[in-house]
Amino acid sequence: MREKRNGEEEESDRASLDPTDSLIAEELECPVCLEEMRPPKRIFSCSNAHLFCERCNDASRLRSCPKCREDFGRSASSSPSSSSGRAPARNRLAERWACKIFS
Ligand SMILES: [Zn+2]
Ligand SMILES: [Zn+2]
Repeated sequence: MREKRNGEEEESDRASLDPTDSLIAEELECPVCLEEMRPPKRIFSCSNAHLFCERCNDASRLRSCPKCREDFGRSASSSPSSSSGRAPARNRLAERWACKIFS
């Protein structure tokens, strides 16, 4: 038998995303291909946390951050381990945002 307990019902007030979420949603549009970075797409970012999608990162045509122009050290094909520039890193936090927002 099921008894409903009064008072402990979950009151989910999630009718609208809070303003922070909509800001994040804007950030989750790749500035290179202008596609939304929905899961399971992986998300990468420069060291200033500017986001872009894995496809654009994989293409290696992204030599610098489209937003802050940080050098990713991919200028030439010859020296992959050149010390100038920093390669983008996967941004798992942004991926979690994407899961939350696009779910
Ligand atoms: Zn992209
Ligand atoms: Zn940047």
